[in-house]
Amino acid sequence: MERIKHFFKSFFLFELLKGMKVTGRYLFAPKITVHYPEEKTPLSPRFRGLHALRRYPNGEERCIACKLCEAVCPALAITIESEEREDGTRRTTRYDIDGIKCIYCGFCEEACPVDAIVETRVFEYHGEKQGDLMYTKEMLLAFGDRYEAQIAKDREADAPYR
Ligand code: SF4
Ligand code: SF4
Repeated sequence: MERIKHFFKSFFLFELLKGMKVTGRYLFAPKITVHYPEEKTPLSPRFRGLHALRRYPNGEERCIACKLCEAVCPALAITIESEEREDGTRRTTRYDIDGIKCIYCGFCEEACPVDAIVETRVFEYHGEKQGDLMYTKEMLLAFGDRYEAQIAKDREADAPYR
């Protein structure tokens, strides 16, 4: 019985017609293609793009060199070196992120107790040769300075859920 059923299904191209039914359904449906880069889809405040290091409004670096982000990073993409300042506070002397190793999991920003390392909405960047996606502390702080308004807005929007 099963074999006869299978024969008729194959003979009348049942599976093909079933597939064409889906094609037909979407043929006249409104198109949802986005004409990037002229058009862009909305992004979540939790979007995990380019990393940035933030400062406090007085210009002081937020990062206290606790190295939690370095410890939690599953890709071993973060390298931190630190020293104590004359005023007794601890700050990084080196903070590198290897963008090639990074898997954009967001663990670093989740682990950070002072919201220093964050991932921004920026995703339009690329590298063309080895080392292009190696970010130093100076670069990460510059990204932070440049995108701080958007970063602060996104953190505020997400605050009730954290
Ligand atoms: S996003 Fe994930 S993989 Fe990338 S640096 Fe942070 S913890 Fe590491
Ligand atoms: S970025 Fe945050 S988690 Fe990483 S060392 Fe600095 S304070 Fe610690």
